[in-house]
Amino acid sequence: MIEARELTKTYRMGQDEATVVHALRGVSFDIGAGEFVAIMGASGSGKSTLMNILGCLDQPGTGSYRLAGENVETMTPDQLAAVRNRRIGFVFQQFNLLPRTSALENVELPLVYAGVGSRERRERAMDSLGRVGLAGRWAHTPSELSGGQQQRVAIARALVNRPELVLADEPTGALDTATSEEVMRLLGELHRQGMTVVLVTHEHDIAEWALRRMVFRDGEVIDDSRQPGRMHPQ
Ligand code: ADP
Ligand code: ADP
Repeated sequence: MIEARELTKTYRMGQDEATVVHALRGVSFDIGAGEFVAIMGASGSGKSTLMNILGCLDQPGTGSYRLAGENVETMTPDQLAAVRNRRIGFVFQQFNLLPRTSALENVELPLVYAGVGSRERRERAMDSLGRVGLAGRWAHTPSELSGGQQQRVAIARALVNRPELVLADEPTGALDTATSEEVMRLLGELHRQGMTVVLVTHEHDIAEWALRRMVFRDGEVIDDSRQPGRMHPQ
């Protein structure tokens, strides 16, 4: 699904852009279809920079990134937007739901952008809400839902375009322990159904849910290992 080769990213800052920050220093790895990967590392280690590149929100400075066989680093901004819409579902720490808008309409939003007609939109959004166990809450606005339910709505929104890859940036960062487990169980369930799931987390307890852990330090991968994962049957 993901082939990253010698990815670098450099930021220039300060007066005359004299300060150079090497956010990624030549990172190479593959992530196969259906993997469940946690990306860890201290603040400033390059996780967000990497996720922005994997999510086709930003381009690497040098190196290559192939997503599902497509060369991303040569794409125009329009082509990148199309890849994002077609192949990737995004989940954020702060859910990023529209506040005065129902769960159903929030989930429909990517389909509005994709130009899907209203009837099909509704059906697919309801189906997606069903997959996260919230079909009964379709009319609720975010403020009428718990934090965990809001994140599940956000996951339903990420799924509605039938992406091949879900990228989750600190998806449990705003949730308490019990609710975090609920969200991780859901991501694990998506993985079991064949979805490729890549998440960033600071928390070891959360990373334990994944089947592979990649640790970043100073823009490099310092550990990349398989693990049993905390997937419970049920
Ligand atoms: P993490 O997500 O692990 O905290 P980041 O990818 O955000 O790491 O940052 C990696 C390095 O790049 C840090 O030193 C950070 O300060 C720097 N950096 C990230 N984004 C920018 C930017 N837009 N401009 C300048 N420096 C940046
Ligand atoms: P903007 O407010 O300019 O859209 P964002 O950082 O919110 O900036 O998003 C940048 C791009 O990231 C968007 O153009 C979109 O393609 C993608 N994106 C952001 N959020 C989502 C989402 N929830 N689902 C799909 N794509 C998203």
